[in-house]
Amino acid sequence: MSNNSMHTILLIEDDPGDTLLIKEMLEQQECKASLATVERLSEGINYLQQNACDVVLLDMNLPDSSGLSTMTRLLDAAPDIPIIVLTGLSDESFGTDAVKSGAQDYLIKGDLDGRILKRSMFYAVERKKLEITLKQTRDLFERQARIDYLTEIYNRLMFSELLEAEMQRSRRYGSELSLIMFDLDHFKKINDTYSHTMGDHVLKEVAQLVSDSIRAHDIFARWGGEEFMVLIPKTDQSQANILAEKLRSLLGSHDFSDGLHVTASFGVTQFKVADHADSFTARSDEAMYLAKKNGRNRIETL
Ligand code: GH3
Ligand code: MG
Ligand code: MG
Ligand code: MG
Repeated sequence: MSNNSMHTILLIEDDPGDTLLIKEMLEQQECKASLATVERLSEGINYLQQNACDVVLLDMNLPDSSGLSTMTRLLDAAPDIPIIVLTGLSDESFGTDAVKSGAQDYLIKGDLDGRILKRSMFYAVERKKLEITLKQTRDLFERQARIDYLTEIYNRLMFSELLEAEMQRSRRYGSELSLIMFDLDHFKKINDTYSHTMGDHVLKEVAQLVSDSIRAHDIFARWGGEEFMVLIPKTDQSQANILAEKLRSLLGSHDFSDGLHVTASFGVTQFKVADHADSFTARSDEAMYLAKKNGRNRIETL
């Protein structure tokens, strides 16, 4: 077993006898890491804010904190540092509770030896690394499940969830709810004339422009390739039309790159009590296709 990657151990312990014992054990094990010691939780938190540290050995009963909250307070302050809790023989259950709450391990002071201590630190560090990687992966998956990778607005799946919630709210409170679907005009030509990269740039910029000009509780999503949805709570069809017109003229007048202009066709519709998600979105789609048919760069309402 190698502890080569361990440089600093922080011991938070108010009993000088226990501190000495741990110091001696580490020396016996020829542990190369340096041991920093403090006696209060507040000092420990302070230390971790200012110093790099690989692992913390934490006595649960300190002058300024006792019991499980000693561990949870430390974990809140330093979520990425592995914590090993030190308990007395009579309060082993604190140790198991601490592990359930996020400590990597617990050691019983009366039952401690250098080898156990060293091994516990080694596993604590390794397990914490794994925990952090898992958390990062989970966060990434959660983000990918609801955010479109290119435009960084909601994707279709997330939109569908939010749409259900808004339809329910509208049914319950009788509040108005409107939907704008828009599709970029002759977008294939942009890819073909310029490049797919330029097409991607336009999509990103469209998302940015629209995001910047809607309200915080409006729900904006990428529905498909170059199709977008704006769901507008507490808004009737005529107000939605005004927003659609604002977006149409905003997009149409924007210079995407050296004189590159793009327009979009809009379909606007208002939620009806008898609607379900499919009928509501299909109607916005039909309105949008009507706008295409009637010449593009325009708004139709159904
Ligand atoms: P219309 O005015 O009738 O909507 O014509 P259009 O060319 O926009 O419609 P069409 O559906 O034929 O083409 C859509 C194009 O959008 C084709 C596809 O390659 C492109 N597209 C879809 N997703 C992306 C993307 O993520 N990036 C880029 N660059 N292009 C995309
Ligand atoms: Mg103590
Ligand atoms: Mg199109
Ligand atoms: Mg399309």
